[in-house]
Amino acid sequence: MRIDADRDRCEGHGLCADVAPEVYDLDDDAVVVVRHETVPPELERKADAGARVCPVAALRVTS
Ligand code: SF4
Repeated sequence: MRIDADRDRCEGHGLCADVAPEVYDLDDDAVVVVRHETVPPELERKADAGARVCPVAALRVTS
């Protein structure tokens, strides 16, 4: 599983990082950073949950 993060769309609310801090972080400008280029299997459920909670749909899960 991979996560495509649209950093232009991200508004920095940090909900993804609240739900799945192992997967998502915010940089110094409060823009999302995905910690793993390929999400490890044990984090896939959290990664998906974090993507779904994004209010501006900036995170897209791809296989
Ligand atoms: S939840 Fe969406 S808008 Fe908020 S920091 Fe994460 S990617 Fe950005």
